[in-house]
Amino acid sequence: MTVTRLLIIGPPGAGKGTQAAKIAETYEIPAISTGDIFRANIKGGTELGQRVQAIIESGELVPDTLTNEIVQDRLLQEDAAAGFLLDGYPRNVEQVEALDGMLEGDSLDAVVLLEADTDEVVARLLKRAETEGRADDTEDVIRHRQDVYAQQTEPLIELFTKRGILVSVDGLGGIDEVADRISSALSAQLGR
Ligand code: AMP
Repeated sequence: MTVTRLLIIGPPGAGKGTQAAKIAETYEIPAISTGDIFRANIKGGTELGQRVQAIIESGELVPDTLTNEIVQDRLLQEDAAAGFLLDGYPRNVEQVEALDGMLEGDSLDAVVLLEADTDEVVARLLKRAETEGRADDTEDVIRHRQDVYAQQTEPLIELFTKRGILVSVDGLGGIDEVADRISSALSAQLGR
C-alpha cells in the first residue's frame, strides 16, 4: 500500500483549506484540519469546544498537549491508514516533535508551503468575515493570527527545507490556477 503523508502550511488566509480539499481528493487521503475539528466542537457545544472557544476567538494557539492528543486520536482512525493531509498542524516546533513521535520514524513525504503576502491574506480574511462570520475573523484577531504565524509557524519552513521535503507554491491567483501549481509541484516531489 502506498502511504502518502502530507502537510499544507502557510499564513492564515492563504487558502489552505480550499487547496487541502483538492489535494486530498487527488491522493485519496483525508484532509485533517485541527481548526475544523476545534470549530466543529465549539459548534457542537462539547467539553473540548468549551475549553478552546475563548483561545480561538483571541487568535492564540490552543495548548500543545491538547492539540497533539486530538491529532494522535485522529491519525489512529482507519481512514488515515493510507495517509493524510494535515492542514494547520503542526504549527510550532513542539508540535513537529510530537508529530515525529506519532509517526514513529515514518516521516512526512512532502510539505506544501502556500506563499502569500500579509496584506493580501488580511484582505482575504476580512472578506471571508463578511461571508462566513467566523468569530476569529475580526481585524485585530486577524492581525494577531498573522503575528502568531510569523513567530511560531514560519520557523518550520526552514526545518522542513532542511529535511528536503518542502515544496513552495505561489498562493496568489485563482483557485484552479493555484491547484494546478500545487499538483505539478507535488507530483514532482513525490514521483506520483
Ligand atoms: P485555522 O482554521 O487553522 O486557522 O485555526 C483556527 C484556530 O484554531 C487557530 O487560530 C488556533 O487558535 C486554533 N488551532 C488550529 N490548529 C492549531 C494547532 N495546530 N495548534 C494550536 N492551535 C490551533
